[in-house]
Amino acid sequence: MKKKLIAGNWKMNGGLASNEALLNGLLAGLQQAPACDVALAVPAPYFAQVSAKVAGSAIALAAQDVSAHASGAYTGETSSVMLQDFGVRYALVGHSERRQYHGESDGVVAEKARQALAAGITPVVCVGETLQEREAGQTEAVVKRQLAAVIHVNGHCISEIVVAYEPVWAIGTGRTATPEQAQQVHAVLRAQLAAASAHADRIRIVYGGSMNAANAAELLAQPDIDGGLVGGASLKAEDFLKIIAAAR
Ligand code: PEP
Repeated sequence: MKKKLIAGNWKMNGGLASNEALLNGLLAGLQQAPACDVALAVPAPYFAQVSAKVAGSAIALAAQDVSAHASGAYTGETSSVMLQDFGVRYALVGHSERRQYHGESDGVVAEKARQALAAGITPVVCVGETLQEREAGQTEAVVKRQLAAVIHVNGHCISEIVVAYEPVWAIGTGRTATPEQAQQVHAVLRAQLAAASAHADRIRIVYGGSMNAANAAELLAQPDIDGGLVGGASLKAEDFLKIIAAAR
């Protein structure tokens, strides 16, 4: 059976001192190996700090984004090979905040996934509908379109990705999808992966959107929910540890 994945997304939060304290709390709570895989997507300036701190622990380093290009005149961007230098294991691609505030298209997200895979980094491909799209009955069509772009560009590598279903209306809002709503979409994504890969059952599909210490167990108990992508609750060691403990 595949291990679940609990990935924290610190977003643009943190600082040298507060990271140190948060990581100390997490490492103290993870002295016994967790039943799931654990990752932290941290701001790029802290890769060196976090990578040194989590070395030898159960925590893997993740990036919040990666460039769609290999190298060159792309000011401000970070290539997958640069991530590799810091031992980055996963990279979020297509987070809704990147799609919304940076205009990332499905095509750009697919290229980012391709760059990550080429460097041996697992892309965590984020898909999800807005509230307006859900209310218009477009949820399935939207997530399938977003995932199809990645499958189209990355064909045979598709079994190496993680998919994160993150309904935009649930991110940072305190409004969580019910376990049934989330499972329904995860089943749609699983079927889409199965049509593209013989190894779909080993691809992890994680849920993100106001997952917290109180609702994690019920979400993680759904048959097609293979973990969580956790924003706000990953900034508090105690809460994040509870979510990790719920993932078995
Ligand atoms: C996220 O940023 O991916 C996320 C799910 O955030 P939150 O848990 O705060 O909703």
